[in-house]
Amino acid sequence: MIAPGSCIGIIGGGQLARMMILEGRKMGYRFIVVDPSEQCASAAIVDELIIDKWSSLNAALTLAKKCDVVTVDTEHVPWQSIQAMEEITHVFPSSMVLKNIQDRLAQRQFLQNQSIPQTAFYNVESLDDIHAAMDEMGLPCVLKTKTSGYDGKGQSVIRELEDALFAWEKIGRLPAIIEKFVDFQDEVSVIIARTKVACKVQVSIYPIAKNLHYKHILHKTVVPSGYDGRIEEKCKALAMQVVDAFDYIGVMGIEMFVTKDGEVLVNELAPRTHNSGHFTYGGCMTSQFEQHIRAVTGQALGATTLLSPIVMVNLLGDLWDDGIDFSKLVQTPHTTLHLYGKTPPQKGRKMGHFTVFDAEVEKASAIADDLYNEL
Ligand code: AMP
Repeated sequence: MIAPGSCIGIIGGGQLARMMILEGRKMGYRFIVVDPSEQCASAAIVDELIIDKWSSLNAALTLAKKCDVVTVDTEHVPWQSIQAMEEITHVFPSSMVLKNIQDRLAQRQFLQNQSIPQTAFYNVESLDDIHAAMDEMGLPCVLKTKTSGYDGKGQSVIRELEDALFAWEKIGRLPAIIEKFVDFQDEVSVIIARTKVACKVQVSIYPIAKNLHYKHILHKTVVPSGYDGRIEEKCKALAMQVVDAFDYIGVMGIEMFVTKDGEVLVNELAPRTHNSGHFTYGGCMTSQFEQHIRAVTGQALGATTLLSPIVMVNLLGDLWDDGIDFSKLVQTPHTTLHLYGKTPPQKGRKMGHFTVFDAEVEKASAIADDLYNEL
C-alpha cells in the first residue's frame, strides 16, 4: 500500500498523465513527470517536471529514485528502462508486460499462447513474406510496423496484390506484421482494472464502449454500446483472461472487433488508461484515472457504475485551424468540455474532448454530433 502523501512518477506528460494527476492530487498524492516538452499537458499541474525523452534511461533512474511508484502514459517507454527502475521502486506496468505489448508480433504471440481469439497474422521481414502471407490469408490485409505504431501510424491496408510494394514502402520497409483485415460490425473497447489488496486480487470492469474511428483516430465513444449481455460478457471474459495472464496491476484498455457473425476478436492492448475510457471521467462513479491510481497504490478499486448514458467526442487540433468557438457547447446542458492545455493545436493532435449525458443514448449521440458539427 502506497499511502496518500507518497510520490507517483509518470513517464510521459500527455493528457493521460494530466488526468491521472488531476484525479490523484484529490487523493493526496504528489507527482513527478518525465516529458521532453516543458509545455506538455501535465506541466501546469505537476509537482516536478523532468525534461527528457521517454526513452531516456537516465531520466527513468532519476524518477525511480524520487518516487514510491512509477507508471506511464505511453506504452512506448522502453521495457529495458522499466526493468532498470524495478530494481529501485514499484513500477506498473511491469517490464514483462511492456516487453510483450510494445512489439506487435510479441503481443499477437502472447494472445495466441493464451488462446485468445484474434485475426490471423504473420511475421514480415521482406516483400516475399508479404506475398506469402497474402497467398495464405487472401485480401484485404493490414501491414503494421512491429513497434511505435498508434492511431493508425505505421499501418497500410493492402486491397490488391499490386498494393504490396507500395504498402511495404509506406511503412518504411520496417520489420512488421501482416494481419487479415477484419470486416467488423463495430469496434468496442473494454477498460479493466486489476490490483492486489493485501495479496488478494481485485478486478473491476467498466461497461463496454462502442467506438467510431475517423482516419484511424478515435472520434466518438458511445456507452452503453447497445450490445446485448452475451457480447458484453464475452468481451469482459476476454479482458479478464488478458489481465490475469499478465498478472497485471493498473488500468488496461483493450480494443476489440465485434464481427458480423457475433464473434469477438482482440485487436490491441494498451497497458494504461485509454482514450475510449474518457467517458468514465464524469460518466462513472470512479474515473479510469482514479482507478489506475488506486490500482498502482494498492488501494481497493472504486465502483465502475455508469451514472448515465454518455457520449464522448475527441477534439483534434484540426478544429483550431479557423479559430474555435466553444460558446454553444458550454451553454448546452449536461455537456462537459475537457481541454488538455496543449499548445500548439496541430492537425491530428488530441487537444481535448467533450462528453454529453442524456437518459437516452441515441439523444446524447445526436446532441454530440450537432455540437461537433457546430465546432
Ligand atoms: P490499431 O493501431 O491496431 O489499433 O489500428 C487502428 C485502427 O485501424 C483500428 O481501430 C481499426 O479501425 C483499424 N484496423 C487495425 N487493424 C485492423 C484489422 N486487422 N482489420 C480491420 N481494421 C483494422
